[in-house]
Amino acid sequence: MNPTVVSIIIKVLLAAGLVFFLYKDARARDFSWLMWTFVPVISIFLPNLATTIFMVIIVLVIYLLSRPKGDLYKCPHCGKKIHNILAFCPFCRKSVKKECLRCHDTVDWDDERCPHCGSMNLTKF
Ligand SMILES: [Zn+2]
Ligand SMILES: [Zn+2]
Repeated sequence: MNPTVVSIIIKVLLAAGLVFFLYKDARARDFSWLMWTFVPVISIFLPNLATTIFMVIIVLVIYLLSRPKGDLYKCPHCGKKIHNILAFCPFCRKSVKKECLRCHDTVDWDDERCPHCGSMNLTKF
């Protein structure tokens, strides 16, 4: 096979892998996912394979350093993975936190009582 074709295929595979990872992770964290999904596409148009690999690594490192920290968990409504600090699911837009009506603190969806004041008087969405 023509080496130019091989290098284009490798570039596209690298960029596609990065797009897939960044889209899923940035969307789950509600973190400028549109921008992060399109940044790797630029790497396909770089003049040679070495610069593409270099850009893919740089983008990945910058992303991992700048993304909002914290674990992902499943949205109680749509089941997609979302970041644990979000009050609303970025996919189905439903509220994923309850609010304590006594101290107005946010309470996790699965909790029956407020972990801060112990009140069971929570909002239900
Ligand atoms: Zn959801
Ligand atoms: Zn409370």
